Amino acid sequence: MPATQLWGDCHTHSHYSDGLMGIAEQTPYYRSFGDDFRFQTDHFIIAVPDGKPATKWLHASDWERYAADCRAATTREHLCIPAVELGWQAPAELKKKEGWFDTKLYPPAGQDVPGESFYAAKSYVDAVRAAKAAGFRMVIAHIDQGAPLERFSGAEIDGLEVRSDIEELRPFFTRATLKHWDRMLTTGHRVSLSSGSDGHQPDLWAGSAFRTVVLDTPFEAAAITDAVIAGRSYLSSTWHPDSFAALGWPARPNPVDGGASMSHMVPWWEFKQIPLLQGRDPRAVVEESYRKAMEIGRVRREDYPVLEDFRVAGAICGGCVKAGAKVPIRAAWKTHVPPRFVRLVADGQSLLEMPTSHPAFGKLEGVWETEADLRGKRYVRLELEAAGEASQVEVLAGNPVYVEA
Ligand SMILES: [Zn+2]
Repeated sequence: MPATQLWGDCHTHSHYSDGLMGIAEQTPYYRSFGDDFRFQTDHFIIAVPDGKPATKWLHASDWERYAADCRAATTREHLCIPAVELGWQAPAELKKKEGWFDTKLYPPAGQDVPGESFYAAKSYVDAVRAAKAAGFRMVIAHIDQGAPLERFSGAEIDGLEVRSDIEELRPFFTRATLKHWDRMLTTGHRVSLSSGSDGHQPDLWAGSAFRTVVLDTPFEAAAITDAVIAGRSYLSSTWHPDSFAALGWPARPNPVDGGASMSHMVPWWEFKQIPLLQGRDPRAVVEESYRKAMEIGRVRREDYPVLEDFRVAGAICGGCVKAGAKVPIRAAWKTHVPPRFVRLVADGQSLLEMPTSHPAFGKLEGVWETEADLRGKRYVRLELEAAGEASQVEVLAGNPVYVEA
């Protein structure tokens, strides 16, 4: 029996911080992309080392209203789950020394923002630790943007979020941050991988992002949070180089990599810097780009590849199995372009790759049943990459199934 699936976006912004729109008015857009849930992760900024909450954006005193707005933005088909993206306000030299990074904090059920020790923190890392001590789960946001993962012990990190920007998708499985993830897993830390659009406007930015797909989980906020943190999930992504270009927006040097690559993505607050968009209402521009995105495709759930099944001796992603010499493994998928490889990674190494001679190799709907020697391994996870004409790429990345001796 394939596991039931809920599709979602784990990183979104509204006008509580620097997003273009209100929380409730964005729900129809996310729903039209096929998202069953989204985490609302507006910026919550603390000032360190002064130990005061910063005045900018989402504030501790806003929490009740924020959570109520998320409830009001929830429909029978789409759950909006309140969380925060923690940032910090600090003197420039301190920021330079500590490095810039954001973490997402998922509150425990029924709780609000963390207490006194959080605000009294003398460093950003200490603030995150105070939130952890208060029961919050910590996911390092967009790890590909140079998050200093080594600043935390593996035990403190509950999850890693891969950046969503479709223009940075390629190559996915060779990203340094995935190697770091494998190192954490290999040293025994159970850290899940999730993704989010970091969308500040509900057009191609949010629509074309990686999806986090949770498995066998009820349609309920605490259960979905638990599933994301436990890694009872996989990531799905589709990428086509023409999507952004089709909007007609000019390519600009990508600020994320210091201009090494070009990006068509323009946040709404920079519209005024783009001659083409100058003088236009940001909402009108976003609405037009949303409509084009729906025409172009690769924003709807049906445009994404699906990991229909991934089982290691019956356990799904985030589960646990006993080590053995011949552990049965089953993978099944649906893609829109032919898979180039399907492989299993264990303890940071490629364990097994689907042979090119296999009858399902390169099939848009494929099943691969095999056995693997998992003795001495800590985990096994699945990687699938598919590619078509015009550099269209699809990616499926399963969270690990853990192995116990
Ligand atoms: Zn963000």
